[in-house]
Amino acid sequence: MVKVNIMCPSCRRRYSVEVPNAAGVSSVSCPFCSAPYSVTIQQTVKQKKAPVSGPAAVALKVKRCEVVSGVAWLLIGIVQLFMVYTAAAGVWNVINAIVALRNCKNITPGNPHVVPYFEGRKVWLIVMAVVNLILGGVVGVLLVLFDWHVRDFVLRNRSAFEG
Ligand SMILES: [Zn+2]
Repeated sequence: MVKVNIMCPSCRRRYSVEVPNAAGVSSVSCPFCSAPYSVTIQQTVKQKKAPVSGPAAVALKVKRCEVVSGVAWLLIGIVQLFMVYTAAAGVWNVINAIVALRNCKNITPGNPHVVPYFEGRKVWLIVMAVVNLILGGVVGVLLVLFDWHVRDFVLRNRSAFEG
């Protein structure tokens, strides 16, 4: 259905109606004076993409973000491993990335363990930020911010995982 705003040709009052979202003519009548009106839809109106909704969509989004973040951490970690100064942070980042990627498969709608997992990450993310800040890796700090955002998204949509 698509909403159409109409000005009644008879009583000149404005009203809106919902007509099928398909090319064609629909007959409607004015709610005030019941004068008939023909609404012509030239072509199917493209609907705006619905915002993220539904447990499955939320879980999928979180999962994708986790994969992106995990792979990025892995790459940063590997690069850091080759630089003596940052090698310690590298080991740390690689291990964490592998753990996070392994956990991705558990991000499913209705899984009650997901929210506590992300909730418990707060301290963890702060530690990650500090480690990366001290041992080199501005990109690492940016990634922490990204992970923080993902965590925030999970907590805002916690109902998707709590059934
Ligand atoms: Zn009217």
